[in-house]
Amino acid sequence: MTDKQVMTEPIAITIVQQIATESHHTADNMIKVVNRKHPPACHIGCHFCCYSPVTVTPPEAMTIARRLKETLNGKQMKKFQRKIREKVQQIRGKTWAEHADKKIACSLLGDDGKCSIYEFRPVMCRSWSSMNKKHCEKSFKTGWSKGEVLNNPVVKDVGNQILSGQIEALRHEGLEAGDFELNEAIYTALKHSHPELEYLAKKSVFENVKFLQNTDLCSVNSEDSIDSEHD
Ligand code: SF4
Repeated sequence: MTDKQVMTEPIAITIVQQIATESHHTADNMIKVVNRKHPPACHIGCHFCCYSPVTVTPPEAMTIARRLKETLNGKQMKKFQRKIREKVQQIRGKTWAEHADKKIACSLLGDDGKCSIYEFRPVMCRSWSSMNKKHCEKSFKTGWSKGEVLNNPVVKDVGNQILSGQIEALRHEGLEAGDFELNEAIYTALKHSHPELEYLAKKSVFENVKFLQNTDLCSVNSEDSIDSEHD
C-alpha cells in the first residue's frame, strides 16, 4: 500500500487475516509432512489440551473475533460474550501455573468437544501433536503445570519458529505483537469496534491483555521419543 492510498476497514481486515492465514497455511503444510511419518495420537473429539493455557498473536485473535462476528447471530454472540467474559474473569490475576491447573476450558471449545473455529485455530493449537493420549489425559487430571506431554518435538518447533517469525516481523513494522492469552485477546478484539484499523494504525489494541510465559507444555521425555508407540 502506498502513502496515498487510504486504509479502509475492509483492506485492514484483509491484511490482518492474510498475516494469520499465511502462518496457518505454512504451519499446516510443514506439519502435514512430519505427521505423515509420525501420525499424532490427536483425533477429533479429544480435547484435553483445550483446557491448557493457549496463546494467540494479535492477527490470530482479530481473525477469530472477526469470524465470530460474521457467523454468530445477535443471540449467539451475546451468549458467547457472556461465556468468554466468565473465562477472562476466571483467568485474570492467575499465574501461568494457576491458570494451567484450573481446568479452564477454552471459550472456543464447543459442547460437542470440538473446536468451534477449527479452520481458524491458532498456530499453537495446530502445532499440538501428542504422541500419547494417556499423557494428555494424565496432565489434564493432575494439572497442566505438572504435566508431561509427549509432543512431537519437530512439530512443536515448526509452530514455535513460525510464531517467532510472525512476531518478529510485526514488531519490525512497529505493530503490537507477542504471545497473548487466547480468551483475553479474543474478548478484547470483540469489544473493539474497528480492531484491525486501529491495529494497523499502530495503536495498542491489546495493551491490557496478559502475555503468557512458560507456554511450553510439551516436554519430551527422551531423544528418541518421537518413535514411541501411540496409544
Ligand atoms: S482454539 Fe480450538 S483447538 Fe485451540 S484450545 Fe481453543 S477449542 Fe481447542
